[in-house]
Amino acid sequence: MAVSFPISSYFTAIFIISRLMSIIGISKHWNNKLLPPLDNITDKLSLDPSAIESASQDFGHIVKSIPKAVLQPSSIADIASLINFSYNSSIPFTIAAKGHGHSVRGQAMANDGVVVDMTSMKKHRNGTGIWVSNYGVYADVGGEQLWIDVLNATLKHGVAPVSWTDYLYLTVGGTLSNGGISGQSFRYGPQISNVYEMDVITGKAEIVTCSPNKNSELFYAALGGLGQFGIITRARVPLEPAPKRVKWIRMLYNDFTAFTRDQELLISINGRHDSHALDYLEGSLLMDHGSPDNWRSSFFPPKHHPKITSSITNHRIIYCLEVVKHYDDQTQNTVGKELEQLLKGLSYMPGFMFEKDVLYTEFLNRVLRGELKARSQGLWDVPHPWLNLFIPKSQIEAFNDGVFKGIVLERNITTGPVLVYPMNRKKWDDRMSAVIPDEEIFYTVGFLHSSGFDDWEAFDDQNKEILKFCEEAGIGVKQYLPHFTSKDEWVHHFGSKWETFQQRKFQFDPKMILSPGQRIFNNN
Ligand code: FAD
Repeated sequence: MAVSFPISSYFTAIFIISRLMSIIGISKHWNNKLLPPLDNITDKLSLDPSAIESASQDFGHIVKSIPKAVLQPSSIADIASLINFSYNSSIPFTIAAKGHGHSVRGQAMANDGVVVDMTSMKKHRNGTGIWVSNYGVYADVGGEQLWIDVLNATLKHGVAPVSWTDYLYLTVGGTLSNGGISGQSFRYGPQISNVYEMDVITGKAEIVTCSPNKNSELFYAALGGLGQFGIITRARVPLEPAPKRVKWIRMLYNDFTAFTRDQELLISINGRHDSHALDYLEGSLLMDHGSPDNWRSSFFPPKHHPKITSSITNHRIIYCLEVVKHYDDQTQNTVGKELEQLLKGLSYMPGFMFEKDVLYTEFLNRVLRGELKARSQGLWDVPHPWLNLFIPKSQIEAFNDGVFKGIVLERNITTGPVLVYPMNRKKWDDRMSAVIPDEEIFYTVGFLHSSGFDDWEAFDDQNKEILKFCEEAGIGVKQYLPHFTSKDEWVHHFGSKWETFQQRKFQFDPKMILSPGQRIFNNN
């Protein structure tokens, strides 16, 4: 077999195989008749220090786990070969797909295992990484593709997906393994509710096409499945005609009850095809830390900064309700009236409504500006001790009192964005692995902290205090992008879904090979 290989590849192969054997501790049992061939991918397995270093880190800059090798696949078969090799080894080694590495707690890492650098697939797709169907009804997109590239490719056909994340430099496989939420979720559901079909390579190295009608167990398992059941190599996502521009409005509140009442009123109009509905709704906190803008967003006209700042100083926390309505040539004369109707009677502070009119693409790609600014100040590649939560509507007041007005103001360290906005449970599908609260309306709260390398623990302590407060107050929070270190915590997190989650793991990845960085089944 090996003789058909170039000499250098041959020696690399031998070296890597022996390294893998030593990783998995089976050198004594090594019997090449019992193991599947790895020759076809050895030249794509890298031991290069820079590849290893990059696979040992993520956006969080908190966890570091060093893999033994990094696979830079050029085809789906390469990924399947690697999984097959591990699956058929007497002691399998772990494998993590790494999308864009924008997890914050090592979720895409594989300590002593192999990381699959999904982005290397992009170079080998030969233009097939994003394919738009006739009439622009759906797109087939590679799991390694960034959402920004999906946006740009689909816009060429005048169409676009409907459900987004705030930030577009995330991979399709990465967000579908979690949820993919943003201000569109109240109306269209998260991104995992907007998938027709997927190709998934399971932990048994089977390449399976799945959908609600075909291999549906794997389909629902993988959506929000934290990478536990397979590596997503293709997703078919629905498209709709893309608008040209958006009216983008922010309104400020000093009263949390009025803020949430208005948010809930607005998301009650949520029909997918209801032209009266808003296209996006989010919310955030403004606190007494200087400018009303933060790294993620600069929205308010500078001339209004003094009055906003003084209002924040007076009230300590101001709540910002943010909405968007799309428009195009046909609706440009009516969009203003529509919005006026929708926002009539809301209880924001008089004189505290601000409006922008921007291109649809500028709106969707809004966080990029924040990223570029943070990068220019050396504030991007820093620790990110984030905490993202889902909170039942019935307990959001208690959360405001105990957490925002209690813990956060008391500790006085939160400078980064804090998001607070509701969504509708009915837009999620309970068969999916994603975990959300039981109530029909629930809020997402995101503490998106950036910190220095020396002080991230202060934010982490605050996060822990928030979780402890919720537990003691009986607030039924669920973590989004969850991070736990013990199996008990995972069992608690999944609640009534745990049995199914575990069964699916036994079915699709019985040797516990995939996504060890989540520390669900590999948490020792
Ligand atoms: P990675 O971090 O590389 O991987 C995440 C997990 O998915 C890992 O367990 C990994 O093994 C697994 N995985 C990766 N690719 C695949 C695949 N193809 N098949 C199966 N499993 C796979 N999330 C939101 O929902 N909404 C937001 O608005 C939002 N904004 C964000 C903004 C920023 C600046 C950042 C850093 C993150 C944001 N996130 C948001 C969180 C983000 O969606 C998740 O962290 C997501 O996992 C990142 O995608 P990624 O491609 O970087 O995945």
